[in-house]
Parts: sequence; structure tokens; C-alpha cells
Amino acid sequence: MEGWSYAVATEAEIARAGNAAAKAFHDLASRGPEARAKLLDRIADLLDQQAGELAEIAHRETSLPMPRLTGEVGRTSGQLRMFAGLIREGSWVDARIDLGNPLRTPLPKPDLRRLLVPIGPVAVFGASNFPFAFSVAGGDTASALAAGCPVIAKAHPAHPETSQRVGELIREAIRELHFPAGTFSMVHGGPEVGRRLVELEQIRAVAFTGSQKAGRALYSLAAARPTPIPVFAEMGSVNPVFVLPGRVRQSGAAVAAGYAASLTLGVGQFCTNPGLLIGIGPEFDQLVAAVAEKLRSVAPGVMLTREIRSRYIDGCDAVMSAVMAEPILTPDGSQSGASPGLYRISGKQAIESREKLEEVFGPVGLAIVCQDAEELLAVASKLDGQLTATIQADEADQTLRRKLVPILAGIAGRVVYNGFPTGVEVGPAMQHGGPFPATTDSRHTSVGTAAIFRFVRPVAFQDLPDVELPQELQDDNPLGIARLINGQSTREPFRRLLPQITQL
Ligand code: NAP
Repeated sequence: MEGWSYAVATEAEIARAGNAAAKAFHDLASRGPEARAKLLDRIADLLDQQAGELAEIAHRETSLPMPRLTGEVGRTSGQLRMFAGLIREGSWVDARIDLGNPLRTPLPKPDLRRLLVPIGPVAVFGASNFPFAFSVAGGDTASALAAGCPVIAKAHPAHPETSQRVGELIREAIRELHFPAGTFSMVHGGPEVGRRLVELEQIRAVAFTGSQKAGRALYSLAAARPTPIPVFAEMGSVNPVFVLPGRVRQSGAAVAAGYAASLTLGVGQFCTNPGLLIGIGPEFDQLVAAVAEKLRSVAPGVMLTREIRSRYIDGCDAVMSAVMAEPILTPDGSQSGASPGLYRISGKQAIESREKLEEVFGPVGLAIVCQDAEELLAVASKLDGQLTATIQADEADQTLRRKLVPILAGIAGRVVYNGFPTGVEVGPAMQHGGPFPATTDSRHTSVGTAAIFRFVRPVAFQDLPDVELPQELQDDNPLGIARLINGQSTREPFRRLLPQITQL
């Protein structure tokens, strides 16, 4: 990083952040959802007020275009408000009540009430490629704070000043609303600081977006702690796009143009970048030639950091020679920017070298040309876990489409139809995750309201007096949330007709 310096967090500072977070956790737990929602709203307002200035700093640090960055600030404040809305509504705690029955024979039935509670302080690793939406005040921080978990964020070294400014805004909101200081802390530094953070005794979960190498390193570290903790690492994938024969015939040119645009969007620096293009026979080969034509006219783009650019150029070379791919368009390594690349292999080669089909972060595509539908299905079933898998099909492709959909749902977190995977909507139904190696935990998402479930754990209370229960579980349902009572979803309060069972 040039032009802005930052102090690497010392051992003592990291330890202080851990203690402050642990102290804040108990305070946060005692504040209701409305107080946390106000905090999230206030952070969102401050981000919006500073959007122009923040985007300029991020532009200087990352070279990402200004419209993209101002849009990303809006997406980030939108995410914060979305989580505020979620916790205000309140039903997300998944309250379940099985009413007791002291008259049940042969044994009385206890009164059981279960809900989700915050897990504890969370370490958040900001991503290089999204300086706002997946960084200091991004979805990981928003969902952790919404759940009631303090956050210690590690700024990404690709945009330290942006991170610092966003961190200051969060701290301003915390001061204004009288939250404890340990609700949010931020540290700068290299891998050693990151490792120390994951090892901090007070940390209860880790959220990470970045490379497979770093994600796996942090995962192993977390598992080796005296108290192991979960790591929710989103590590990207090759995001296959299957173009079925009817679609090639009907809309080949449009698919080629759409694929080239998606591949080169943001100089290919998206975890949802469509790195594989898969189809059948000579007609599909013509589509691949049309993609190459489009890519030739794309000007080289500046990548986020010099290291990411050199990893892109080296990665194209290493991965494409490992799978013995034929180059159609070789990325230009002689320029300061990065130009797109396109390679080609047969379906047979792809099946034989499946474990070598690694992600190369950047605008490079690998076309897999299969002999027939059977081979295409075999390629699909051999692929590793993915964030997304895309089907481009026509009504004429129904038979093959029907076979392909369940295979893709088995390997990917999101199946896209007649679209492209770049562009991740933020909302309750979004799934941004997938089986390993796309993430370290396929049961979760890092985008959308369901991202909050990474930072909670369930607790059940058996036969507790009403007054000691969290409000969400009390008989008269003071928060008016949806609850599952004896297996039925309702917002209705109820009265206990029979006395509490205290002993079996
Ligand atoms: P990265 O190298 O994985 O770094 C992400 C974060 O993890 C940084 O804060 C980094 O700190 C830290 N880190 C890296 N190695 C570590 C280790 N061994 N122990 C502890 N902490 C460690 O990702 P990046 O710098 O953003 O980009 C590099 C590559 O990551 C790209 O070329 C691409 O392949 C991939 N990537 C994937 C996504 C995605 O969406 N999944 C997004 C961005 C990048 P330091 O930088 O200080 O080491």
C-alpha cells in the first residue's frame, strides 16, 4: 500500500480487544433487539453520509471504478438496515415451545422452550475485492452485531485507509448510542495478526472471505485451539456454466456475449466469476470462438493488488498447463493491467484431471467441450463444491436439463437458470455458500438475512418460570413474534392452564 501507513496491532492490543469484546458481549446480550437495530441503522446512515469520500479513498486504494464503489457503499448500508429490520421483526430467533403436560402417562411431559442466542465475539476478515460489502462494515459484521455478537475486524491490507475510516464510523455510532467500546474493534497487520486473532481465547467464531490457502490455514488453526471454534470461510469457486445444445442453436451469440461480459466484470475479481464454460460438440465450439472474439476486444483492467495480478498470470499458466488445456487467448503478462484469457479442453480431459480444475482469480475461462450429453453429465457430477452452477437451456433441452438440475443442486449453493452468476442479490432467499472447497461450511450463507445463523447457537429451557425466560419465549409473547407452539406456527399468546412441572 502506498501513501497511507498504519500501525500493525501488537500482541497487547489484540489481547485488549479480546477482553473488551468479552466484556461487551454480556452488555449486548442484555440490550434488546431494538437497541441493536438502532446501532445498525446509525452505522448505515453514517456510511451513506460519507459515501462519496469513502468511495474516493477506496478507489485510490483498489483501482475499482467509482460507480461500482459508491454502489457498494449503498449495498453495505442496505445490508445493515436489512439486518436491523430482521431483528426488529424478531421471528428469526426460531422460538419453539413444546408445552408441558403433568398429566401425561406414563411420565409427565416437561415444558421445553428453545431459541437461538448469540455465540460470542466474532473475528471478521475483510475481503480484498469488496472493500465495503465484504469488509469492515460488511455482511459479516452486520449479521454478527445483529445477532448480538461483538466484532473484532481485521482490515484487509489492500484497502487499509478505507477500512480505518469505516471502522471509525462504526465506533462513532457506538459512542453516540452508548454501546460498550468492545462492541467493535479493528486491527491492522499481516498473517501473524490474523492468526493471533483466531487464537484469541474470547473469540467464538470466524468469518472470512478470501483464498483457499488462507481459509484452510485459519480453519486448521481454529480446530487446533484448546476450545475449537467454527470458521465460516468463503473461498470462491470456478462456477461452471453449462450451455445445452438447444440454447447454443437458439441464442448462441447472446450467450457468448453474456458470458464474456460476466467473465470480465470487475477484471474477473469475483468469487462468482464463471471460470468454466461447458457444452457439447462442434456447435458449442463455435460459441467458444465467439466468446474469444468478444474477449479480444476487452481492454486490460487494473487488478486489486500487484500480488493478485501476478497470481493471476502465474495461475493461468500453472492451472492450464496442469490440465493440458489448449490456449485460445493467453492473458497478456507484459502490460501493467490484466487482459482476459480463454482455454479449451475436452470432456474426457476434464474428467481425468478434475482435481486440478482450480480457481484462478481473474478474467480467465476454461471451455470444456464434451462429446455428448452423457459426457457432459459425467463432467458435472465430477465437479467439486461450488458457490454457483449455471444452466443455459432452451425448451428443446428439457430432457438433459431435467437430469442436470439435481446434479448441480448437489454440488452448488445456488443454481442459476439462463443468467450468469456474477451479481449476488441481497435478500432473505439468497444462498451464497456451497460445499467445500467453496466454503468450509455448506450449511450456511454469507449473504442475505440467513447469514445471521452463523453466529448463534440454540438453547432450550426446561420448566423455567415464565419470568426468567427470554421475552421471545414468554407465555404472552410480548414481542409478537412468530413461534412454533406444539409444532404449529403462530403469533398468539397463551396461558398455562396447568401448574409448572418442577420435578419428574
Ligand atoms: P487472502 O490471501 O486469502 O487474504 C485474506 C485475508 O487473510 C487477509 O487479511 C490476509 O492477511 C489473511 N491471510 C492470508 N493468509 C493467511 C494465513 N496464512 N494466516 C492468517 N491470515 C492470512 O486473499 P486476498 O489477499 O484477498 O487475495 C488473494 C487471493 O484470494 C486471490 O488471488 C483469490 O484467489 C482469492 N480471493 C477470493 C475471494 C473470494 O471471494 N472467495 C475474494 C478475494 C480473493 P494478509 O494479506 O495480511 O496476509
